[in-house]
Amino acid sequence: MTEPVLYLDGVSVVFDGFRALNNLSLIVDAGELRAIIGPNGAGKTTMMDVITGKTRPTAGVVRFREHDLTKLDEASIATLGIGRKFQKPTMFDALTVFENLELALKAPRGPFSCLRWVLSGEARRRIEQVMEEVGLAARAHDRAAILSHGQRQWLEIGMLLMQDPELLLVDEPVAGMTDQETEHTAALLVRIAGRRSVVVVEHDLEFVRALGSKVTVLCEGSMLSEGSIDHVQNDPRVIEVYLGR
Ligand code: ADP
Repeated sequence: MTEPVLYLDGVSVVFDGFRALNNLSLIVDAGELRAIIGPNGAGKTTMMDVITGKTRPTAGVVRFREHDLTKLDEASIATLGIGRKFQKPTMFDALTVFENLELALKAPRGPFSCLRWVLSGEARRRIEQVMEEVGLAARAHDRAAILSHGQRQWLEIGMLLMQDPELLLVDEPVAGMTDQETEHTAALLVRIAGRRSVVVVEHDLEFVRALGSKVTVLCEGSMLSEGSIDHVQNDPRVIEVYLGR
């Protein structure tokens, strides 16, 4: 048995008496792709915030590999190999795709941060490999400002990949995307998982189906159902509180 990459057990978060997370447990294995769904207010964002150290749990265990995340602050957790993609992309519009990726490589945790002058050939190959992976090789020298909405999301995923995270947390990646962009994003996340663990929060159930991964349904801060998309979509509790609305 290999150790899980991410281990949450009995996690609760109470804000002024309100339980945003209530005894939540979640295990994500190495190389696993996991989709998290649930109605608004279910606790999805709070769960991501607990993993990245933005919010401290009131109770419970949160572990990434051998690290007890409840004892670390957000800045320390960021150096462990957890990358988080927020819904709104953050990049430099005036810089090209290549330059944005280069900058991400030079960020504090970048594997070549200190040795870049020695490894510049290797660094360039790494940028090219990531551009290939996210499907932006043909746009290498275009400024980020002229990319489509979908391409900006992929560039941001690429920027996170430059940091070589072991766990990637992705928040609603396909909101506002065309069907074609959504398909590309599903294929991209499936490709990324395997070498890394990926946790995706998403509302779009067709996209979640395309991921083909295990799905965890959150409701009122707890895990309501878990399994394949067909399993959770047919779970009467899920139909009642979420899908049937
Ligand atoms: P989701 O991402 O699934 O929509 P959230 O994790 O954002 O859900 O929120 C879960 C619940 O916790 C919501 O009812 C929300 O209003 C509440 N909540 C989130 N953050 C705070 C906070 N900082 N203070 C008080 N309540 C909060």
